[in-house]
Amino acid sequence: MSDKSPNDFPCLLIVTDFLSAKIDYCNDYTLALLAYDEQEMIGKYFSEIVSKATLILFESYIRPSVLESSESIEVQITLRTKAAERIPSVSNVRLHEGKLYWSIFTAVQRDKLYQELIETRDSLEKKAEALTQLTRIDPLSSLLNRRAATQDISVLIHRVKRSFTPMAFLLIDVDFFKKINDTYGHDKGDEVLISLSKALKSSCRETDILARWGGEEFLMVLYNSSVRGTAKFCESLHDKVAKLCFDDVSLTLSIGVSQLSQALLVEKNISDLLIKQADTALFEAKETGRNRTVFFKPSSTK
Ligand code: GH3
Ligand code: MG
Ligand code: MG
Repeated sequence: MSDKSPNDFPCLLIVTDFLSAKIDYCNDYTLALLAYDEQEMIGKYFSEIVSKATLILFESYIRPSVLESSESIEVQITLRTKAAERIPSVSNVRLHEGKLYWSIFTAVQRDKLYQELIETRDSLEKKAEALTQLTRIDPLSSLLNRRAATQDISVLIHRVKRSFTPMAFLLIDVDFFKKINDTYGHDKGDEVLISLSKALKSSCRETDILARWGGEEFLMVLYNSSVRGTAKFCESLHDKVAKLCFDDVSLTLSIGVSQLSQALLVEKNISDLLIKQADTALFEAKETGRNRTVFFKPSSTK
């Protein structure tokens, strides 16, 4: 037994005085790890070998708990070496006859593993988020696809039900798009759709919803837009599209609009209803000559 000593233990063993918080004893493992020699270490304040955060923890948690129950276990602390390197550790502390007996294990590897785990989780979450985003986006136009827009609209309708905000639903269809494909080819048609999508996007606000609803048809939901505001918006959209340059391809749009009124809030499928109304108005815009905006009028319901 006599040849066994605390110096053989592969952990830090430290004794500090409870009142003065000075170090009374430490084993060789402690000296080697913290890079002090014995004369330097004995009489040092405990505060000199731990981080500031650990000192706060010591005063606010460790000291009160050992006073209460004589020990405090598995407390995460950070040791500081002579060269001010930080070593994450876990300590058990026991109060005995006015002295604190510390057994401390380093937790560098465990912390590294934990850190790696957090990083892996974060990166997986980012990848999952990116994948979710991908499933929401229409690859040609980079706008939301129909399914994503439907989801976003339902969230928006929910919000508006709690606190009414006027909204407009715009179904936007390119006029005679088939002719563009037939005359200039499908690739040119794609190019036109991409440029148009950018123009539509740059016309919207962050709070609006814009989606490729199908082929050469787009859905735009203008959040907080009055009838007058919507009419002005559509007018400027027609102007903007007329100025778009695609060599000698000229482009016009027909727009069907429905407006969310407070009276509609009692309806069950508000978004379906508004889209249907916008579609009816779009049909009328086509029928009455295209390159125009038509607002849904209840009388136009068949
Ligand atoms: P209208 O003014 O009545 O809307 O006439 P339109 O020619 O625009 O309408 P129609 O529905 O007859 O034709 C739409 C065309 O849009 C037919 C289809 O091939 C084309 N189209 C749909 N999606 C795409 C696409 O992703 N790329 C290209 N280039 N064309 C598309
Ligand atoms: Mg069309
Ligand atoms: Mg169409």
